[in-house]
Amino acid sequence: MKCPFCGSLESKVVDKRETEGHVATRRRRECLSCGKRYTTYERLETPSLTIIKKDGTKTLFDRPKMIAGIMNACHKRPVTIEQVQKLADQVECELNAMDATEIESSKIGSSVIRKLKKLDKVAYLRFASVYKEFQDLEEFDKELHKVLKK
Ligand SMILES: [Zn+2]
Repeated sequence: MKCPFCGSLESKVVDKRETEGHVATRRRRECLSCGKRYTTYERLETPSLTIIKKDGTKTLFDRPKMIAGIMNACHKRPVTIEQVQKLADQVECELNAMDATEIESSKIGSSVIRKLKKLDKVAYLRFASVYKEFQDLEEFDKELHKVLKK
């Protein structure tokens, strides 16, 4: 693994742990050249899960893209990248458990939404509005008011 700071290939592992659900091994590495630390993840490659989008087109499941979407919803919210990674792990766990080769994008969306709801209400609403999970604007307004009251 190349050091993201100096490009050196020499590093040592200073910490190693399994992520929740044992879907990945997280390694904290220290660069032997510049001494800076970075994290790598080793995970099972999800056997090419195909996502069926709302318009019927198909695309391959893209974990970084899913994480980017969640991060967008968490903009300026007190949510850490570790929490988002953990959430993504849980979603992937669920997807793996379904043992399907094709899955509707809305199923992934609602899996993320359920978890975001527990993590951060504002991020949850942002994500849900993007995924248009609400039946109509009125329903969205109701949810928004519930959150703002807290
Ligand atoms: Zn380095």
